[in-house]
Amino acid sequence: MPSAAPGDAPEPDAEALELGRRLFARDCRFVVGAARRDQVPDSDLPEVAFAGRSNVGKSSLINALTGHRALARVSHTPGRTQQVNFFVLGERLMLADLPGYGYARAPKDQVRRWTALVRAYLRGRPTLRRACLLIDARHGIKDPDRALMDLLDEAAVSYQAVLTKCDKAGAAELATRLAAVGRELAGHTAAHPDVLATSARTGHGIAELRAALAALAAPPASREIT
Ligand code: GDP
Repeated sequence: MPSAAPGDAPEPDAEALELGRRLFARDCRFVVGAARRDQVPDSDLPEVAFAGRSNVGKSSLINALTGHRALARVSHTPGRTQQVNFFVLGERLMLADLPGYGYARAPKDQVRRWTALVRAYLRGRPTLRRACLLIDARHGIKDPDRALMDLLDEAAVSYQAVLTKCDKAGAAELATRLAAVGRELAGHTAAHPDVLATSARTGHGIAELRAALAALAAPPASREIT
């Protein structure tokens, strides 16, 4: 049996991959952008949030997952969007795209607003099943990511590290990064032990992430053909 690197996620089985494929083939539509806690939509659906430093590849990953070219706009102005964007996928899963963080030139009051919005969102969202913490495969976990991990730990939100832009890292670098991220997350109780490696450019790991997220979605309505 091939041995997985520490922190590397085990392969999902064919059935899980197929459930992920079917869910993410369904319609995904934008619901609302919330710049304040009172703009966060009411929802009974299980929810998954995506968070990461500006430019980590978050928009590209959401677009790759949902098969849309520009659902989450690929931003060329890092750190500009200060709202949580909500999308509903196949009426079974809510996706929440958190504003990027860690932009070096961000003014202090923007950082404060970001923290207030994200903290309020994380604390007041019982439907939030998991946050995907996106980490650039070439850079690993940085201090702004650790600040977010503190917020997630504090709000007791379970989270999973997802490496992005894996096509840009060599195989040895990727293995080292996966192990290092896995080791660091092992010290956090709210962190999921499996680290996923993805590339929005090549599609690497996208099917596996779809499978992991489909496992959190509401079951299909009985009359629905999945
Ligand atoms: P965001 O700010 O986190 O939403 O990041 P974007 O999705 O806007 O991506 C930032 C930059 O990284 C853009 O120039 C993307 O084309 C690039 N990018 C995103 N994902 C990948 C990837 O998987 N591989 C490579 N090579 N580049 C990527």
